[in-house]
Amino acid sequence: MHETSMVRRLIEMVVQEAERLGGEEVSVVRVEVGALSGVEPMLVQLAYDQLTPGSRLAGSRLEIEVVPLRARCAQCGVFEVPQFHFTCPRCGNSRTVVVSGEEFRLVSFDQFTKPGEPQE
Ligand SMILES: [Zn+2]
Repeated sequence: MHETSMVRRLIEMVVQEAERLGGEEVSVVRVEVGALSGVEPMLVQLAYDQLTPGSRLAGSRLEIEVVPLRARCAQCGVFEVPQFHFTCPRCGNSRTVVVSGEEFRLVSFDQFTKPGEPQE
C-alpha cells in the first residue's frame, strides 16, 4: 500500500526538520490530504501508528486535514467540484483546471518546549 511509503517519507522529512530546529520531541504533525489524491486518510493514520514507535516521532499525534477538490474556470474563478463534475457551475465551461485536492503534504509540526534548567 503506497500510504506506507508516503508516510515513511513524511516521517523522515519531519525528523530531519526537527533535528535542524534543535532536536526537541515532536508532539503534533499536521498534513493535508487532497480528496482526489488517491490517499486514504485512514490508511495514513494506520501507517503513522505503525511507523512512529521506535522513531523520534514516537508518541506524537497526527492531524489529517482533508482538502476538498477545487477547480478554476478562466472566466469565473475557483469552485468546489461536486462529485467529480469538473464543468464550471456558472458558465458551463468544461476546460477547467484542478487547483486543489490532489496534494499530500506536510503542513506543520509542533515540538515540545522543554523547560530550561532552573536558574538561580
Ligand atoms: Zn465559468
